[in-house]
Amino acid sequence: MSELVIGIDLGGTNIKGALIDTGGNIVSKQEIPTMANGGPGIVAGRISGMIDELGRRAADSGNNVAGVGIGIPGQPDKVKGEVVFAPNLHWHHVPLLSLLNLKKDLPVYLDNDANVAALGEQWRGAGRGALNMIMVTIGTGIGGGLILDGRLYSGTTGTAGEVGHTVIDPQGPQCSCGRRGCLETLTSATAMVRMAKEAIDRGRVTALFREENLEARDIVIAANAGDDVAREIIEQAAYYLGIGLANLINLFNPDTIVIGGGVSKAGPILFDPLCRTVVEWSLEAPCKAVKIVPAELGNNAGCIGAGALVLQS
Ligand code: ZN
Repeated sequence: MSELVIGIDLGGTNIKGALIDTGGNIVSKQEIPTMANGGPGIVAGRISGMIDELGRRAADSGNNVAGVGIGIPGQPDKVKGEVVFAPNLHWHHVPLLSLLNLKKDLPVYLDNDANVAALGEQWRGAGRGALNMIMVTIGTGIGGGLILDGRLYSGTTGTAGEVGHTVIDPQGPQCSCGRRGCLETLTSATAMVRMAKEAIDRGRVTALFREENLEARDIVIAANAGDDVAREIIEQAAYYLGIGLANLINLFNPDTIVIGGGVSKAGPILFDPLCRTVVEWSLEAPCKAVKIVPAELGNNAGCIGAGALVLQS
């Protein structure tokens, strides 16, 4: 008999869960719709059902579950076991752990999904072996996770690592947080799509179409096919991201920065201008000591990192 952990990745659309061994290998997986419209009670019931099912699978193979980690798309209160705020789920102060109604002796740990992804990449992904690692995930917004001296750094209120809301340009675009010019208003997938639409409105010649469903991935594909406007957008986003990373490098002196999210697969059109900007804007010694790499775990980072929460605790 060996010890396994359960990692749950709670998203606005789907709940993913995995049984994971102590080497970080996925032994068994499950994915079900979140049904967020049903409210917190329904979602908690679905998570409990998944934990029960994965627990049964562990027992069937003669193994024991040491604990459960849950990555949430928002801000946790780890002491109270509640979700303080999760915009995608429309949750405010949801007492998730008590709603789960699990066996009393099964430890359950909550953390923000960006932190959890960072843990996953450090355990089994692009940050393997990293001691001081920062993960920046480029999606609709920008998520961040800090691992310092080998451990997840959560800060005083559990909100550390909000890289997306570091201010790069105080005169910049309006951010969802109410301030201006946060990194995510300049570098996120949403920001790239906004820049593309602005370029099209200015009459720039481009292969991109001004469609409702225009996505950052379309811009990456067009840029790699040689489209000038798409290339400029990626370069602009890479420039701002580079400024953001240079600040992080000077502050934290990390050995590894992992870039996650779909845009991280863009390749040299993103990473070349990004690294040029980092070299230009960061101090020499910490800059030489850091490697900037794309994430490796893709959609599995959430489950694997949630499993790592159990082992870190
Ligand atoms: Zn902001």
